[in-house]
Amino acid sequence: MSLVDQRRSTRQISVGNVKIGSMAQVSVQSMTNTQTQDVVATVNQILALEKAGCEIIRVAVPDMEAAQAIEKIKQQITIPIIADIHFDFRLALASATAGADALRINPGNIGEAKKIKAVVDCAKKHGIPIRIGVNAGSLEQEIEQRLGTTPQAMVESAVRNIKILEDLDFHDIKVSLKASDVSRTVSAYRLLAPRTDVPFHIGVTEAGGLYAGITKSAIGIGMLLAQGLGDTLRVSLTRDPVEEVRTGYEILRALGIRSRGPELISCPTCGRCKIDLFKIAEQVEKALLERSSRIKVAIMGCVVNGPGEAKEADIGIAGGDGKGILFKKGKVIRKIDQDELVDQLLSEIDKMIKNSEKF
Ligand code: SF4
Repeated sequence: MSLVDQRRSTRQISVGNVKIGSMAQVSVQSMTNTQTQDVVATVNQILALEKAGCEIIRVAVPDMEAAQAIEKIKQQITIPIIADIHFDFRLALASATAGADALRINPGNIGEAKKIKAVVDCAKKHGIPIRIGVNAGSLEQEIEQRLGTTPQAMVESAVRNIKILEDLDFHDIKVSLKASDVSRTVSAYRLLAPRTDVPFHIGVTEAGGLYAGITKSAIGIGMLLAQGLGDTLRVSLTRDPVEEVRTGYEILRALGIRSRGPELISCPTCGRCKIDLFKIAEQVEKALLERSSRIKVAIMGCVVNGPGEAKEADIGIAGGDGKGILFKKGKVIRKIDQDELVDQLLSEIDKMIKNSEKF
């Protein structure tokens, strides 16, 4: 049963070969935290992100060297790349020329109309979309003085900036409305939804370290997706961006929107558990990251309740006293010595994947 309301209907844009909006699947993106000028480090990070399922990557473009690096980076990656520009419109022009698949700008901080027009003309020439990135922390002064950093102010900024681009007959747009707290972020998207058909890039910005970041992102992004709002997402964490991608997919999986790779379920343990389940779960979780098939794996603390509690899992193990068991769909397959549990589970999983017993 899906918890998700009907998806908001939007226009569709393409960032490279990734479609965004309308009925296209909700894509997962991230942003590098390397110096973009350092092509080797940036490419290595993007390749790790691609492996984790990242579908679009954004890079910061703080200077001309970074803009020009896009050309070399693009030659070594397969996912589309978005150039993130603040203030200097010339960096947008250089990034588009270097092959960026989209530009992220905030027209409010690009300045004069003729500079915005130059960016729009360039995007038209290269056939690439523009993301209007409204951020509660960098609103137009006049809007902020009047409305503060409220959701209403964010929406007014978005509407104004969408109009600026559309008045230049440019419609290849997506928009993000980001604040560092869930309530303003969610309110802003809800307020904007009935006012435009531009696709939404969603996320909670500067969400924080691992716990705060994952929690805020799961609630903020989750609330929006559950209401059918959101066409592409980025989880923002003060961590390796690979963690952002993983979290993004877990949010989509939890809502039943998309799933990628194996799903691990494990019990919290209780007084019946006689093995080091935390360690086993960690080992299996790490090993599953290398596998891309959709399989549900259970790691349970005791043989008495484990298989029954994890009936819906395709395969699982449950710990005992000295010996554990391997089970499939809640049925016990065989007993295994405890220190063999992980290896035998992984080899069974690989057999299942190979034989495509279910997939
Ligand atoms: Fe406790 Fe066993 Fe349930 Fe784990 S599976 S929570 S160890 S009863």
